[in-house]
Amino acid sequence: MAEMIQAVRGMNDILPPETHLWLYAEYIFRRVLLSYGYQEIRFPIVERTELFKRSIGEITDIVEKEMYTFLDRNQETLTLRPEGTACCVRAALEHGILHNQIQRLWYSGPFFRHERPQKGRYRQFHQFSAEVFGLPGPDIDAEIILMSASILDKLGIKSFTTLQLNSLGTPASRSEYRHQLIRYLNENKNSLDEESVRRLHKNPLRILDSKNPDMKKLIAHAPKLLNHLDNESLSHFERLQEYLAHAGVNFEINPCLVRGLDYYTKTVFEWVTDKLGAQGTVCAGGRYDGLVEQLGGKATPAIGLSFGMERTILLMQQGNKNHKTENGLHAYLITDSEDAFATGLKSASYLRTKVPGLKLIQHCGGGSLKNQFKKADKSGAQYALIIGEHEMKTRSISLKNLRENIPQQSLYLDELAEYFKLKISKK
Ligand code: ATP
Ligand code: MG
Repeated sequence: MAEMIQAVRGMNDILPPETHLWLYAEYIFRRVLLSYGYQEIRFPIVERTELFKRSIGEITDIVEKEMYTFLDRNQETLTLRPEGTACCVRAALEHGILHNQIQRLWYSGPFFRHERPQKGRYRQFHQFSAEVFGLPGPDIDAEIILMSASILDKLGIKSFTTLQLNSLGTPASRSEYRHQLIRYLNENKNSLDEESVRRLHKNPLRILDSKNPDMKKLIAHAPKLLNHLDNESLSHFERLQEYLAHAGVNFEINPCLVRGLDYYTKTVFEWVTDKLGAQGTVCAGGRYDGLVEQLGGKATPAIGLSFGMERTILLMQQGNKNHKTENGLHAYLITDSEDAFATGLKSASYLRTKVPGLKLIQHCGGGSLKNQFKKADKSGAQYALIIGEHEMKTRSISLKNLRENIPQQSLYLDELAEYFKLKISKK
């Protein structure tokens, strides 16, 4: 036998029955986002490398060491998207949909970062994200956070998460703070890890986002950006907290929350859990008022959030072991001759059209009725539908409940459609 080829490390296959959970989660995301008036945007998986360098920041984990960058056949340097905000802004600018307009957009799909694979951290992972353009105030910050709370609630995982909030202020207020932070870190240079020493002057705020447990104490005692906020950022932050309190959303202020990308301003937030070890952030977001301009557009306020899908799914699996993971098949149709099979093809297609939501497999591959019954049972379907010699003569279909001891019935196709309609609408 030929040697098998395996998947790339950190890039996962997602198989049934787990895909049922993904479909369910994606369905909830879509439903909530649509209910808030968001519209879907789609953009490519590959972009010019420059896009990410300019937006995320040169001195960040992502740009320094995590991007999948390659030369294409035209010697152009391209990158598999490590995140979506920059791509979304690029696409929105290119098509002129930000000019004097408010846009509420969402997107989902795979992203790529060359990280050390572990539970909840992969090299290909998936996000479900929302971005809003054209609104400067804390009103939209409150709304987007409320929307994320609603998603967590509907997925049944809200009780495992806590909302953490911080404000990064404006770039101007940050630069003053930067000096203080550098001074503090310099005084404690012996406690810095190698990476932090390197970042000390280039990007000291990033040090606050370090995942190194040895740095925790140092970070906790560092001067706080919150104490250096400009007046406008401060009142923005206070108003947001009032809105959230009024809406009954609990939150904690985490003055060390900085996020891993350079473009954030003012509000930043994360939904974190203690159930996934070090990979505790399920959803992260924030305001990025400078990014559109940085990417060549007119200054446009903006805010966004991203759910990590893998962490969301892991949490759903931990939370409720009864999550539906079966395929939900309603019926399995078996036949005992070529003529009966041909009739079955038409009948099955009719039933699928007449009964929205019906999940019906028609047996293919022949075999005795007895064997086909075994397959029907193994399929997990609730019912077997049978077209044999007798049913061909009477133009009927037999219905057998495979899970409950109920006598078999013989029904006409229309009656069967009505029967399933009733069954499915009851669920
Ligand atoms: P972390 O601090 O965990 O590295 P991050 O700040 O790099 O996360 P973002 O760029 O804000 O993450 O991405 C948003 C969300 O996407 C994260 O909160 C997380 O749920 C998910 N995510 C990010 N990187 C990965 C990854 N490598 N594997 C799986 N999920 C990820
Ligand atoms: Mg990261």
